Amino acid sequence: MNIPMVDLRSQYLKIKEEVDSKIFNVLDTTAFINGDDVKMFRNELANYLNVKHAITCGNGTDALQIAMMALGLQPGDEVISTDFTFIATVETIALLKLTPVMVDVDPDTFCIDPDKIEKAISPRTKAIMPVHLFGQCADMDRIMEIAEKYNLYVIEDTAQAIGSDFTSDKGWTKKAGTIGHIGCTSFFPSKNLGCYGDGGAIFTNDDELSEKMNSIVNHGMEIRYYHDRIGVNSRLDTIQAAVLRVKLPLLDEYNLARLSAADYYDKAFANCDKIITPKRFNKSTHTFHQYTVQLNNVDREGLQAYLKSKGIASAVYYPVALHNQKAFKGYKYDPNGFAVTNQLCKTVLSLPINTELDNDTLKYITDNVLSFINSDY
Ligand SMILES: *Cc1c(COP(=O)(O)O)cnc(C)c1O
Repeated sequence: MNIPMVDLRSQYLKIKEEVDSKIFNVLDTTAFINGDDVKMFRNELANYLNVKHAITCGNGTDALQIAMMALGLQPGDEVISTDFTFIATVETIALLKLTPVMVDVDPDTFCIDPDKIEKAISPRTKAIMPVHLFGQCADMDRIMEIAEKYNLYVIEDTAQAIGSDFTSDKGWTKKAGTIGHIGCTSFFPSKNLGCYGDGGAIFTNDDELSEKMNSIVNHGMEIRYYHDRIGVNSRLDTIQAAVLRVKLPLLDEYNLARLSAADYYDKAFANCDKIITPKRFNKSTHTFHQYTVQLNNVDREGLQAYLKSKGIASAVYYPVALHNQKAFKGYKYDPNGFAVTNQLCKTVLSLPINTELDNDTLKYITDNVLSFINSDY
């Protein structure tokens, strides 16, 4: 048995013919940059998300940086984000010499805790950057309310939740990443919509922001060699766009396959008080980028080693809270402000989740998890 966290190969083999032919077509045209597939993918992505503009770029980290550049944030401006996320979210804030203000997460959703946001606002606060972690949306009703009250921008980090739906108290339903001013996503191979290399995209319903971001991704240039602003070079290449054009129509199906694996896990662990299964937030669908449990008095390293001996991968997302990372040691954080994150870093464990898990495999995984947990190791 060899059960990886993600199984890109089995997924690829099912779409190989179409993907290969689309890639060869790009090779044939040699339009490697800004080819037709890029233009078509942008439109198809915007349609899928029901958002006015989708701008492709080189990766999800660039997407976040470009979003903040387009908003004109200035050194010293504060951006509020979460302490429990992949570093890219907060790294880009720091890279632009903005001040990352990290707050604790909600114990049920692992997303930014809206109650903590308002307390973190200062006269320098310019934006809130919620992360829809592991596939589930943060409480965008509360976040948008706070943003309106204090006149802040909202940049959604949707790298882990592409395709998730958020249903507001007000009755509307929108795709993750299309609720705030700008949404950012990643097409890193293991993401729910992954290409075969690096890729990313930025979405917005704002024409002016879209125009700015289109210019920033391409050296601040609209007319060739006339540069209106400082930009970057960040592009989705045509081969990646061609792959994504095959996979985008399958995204809903892929997300449902993840959900069904998550349902299997939930049921298998329902009667085990040492495993706290992920809570489902009633305002958001869950696309399970990760299936992450909290262990209650379980030797996590022991469990991981046992699973490894059975050929089962597992991972800790994330082992160190961002406020404890060496990279952020220059910033001052209240060490008592992150009780939930600190606890999660010690107790979370992510199990294999992907589009290719069948019930036999899931049974093998859950049987082994339970057999370790129920033994007196
Ligand atoms: C993957 C990820 C990113 C960065 O995406 P890249 O394409 O790897 O640059 C940003 N934020 C979150 C939450 C992610 O999971």
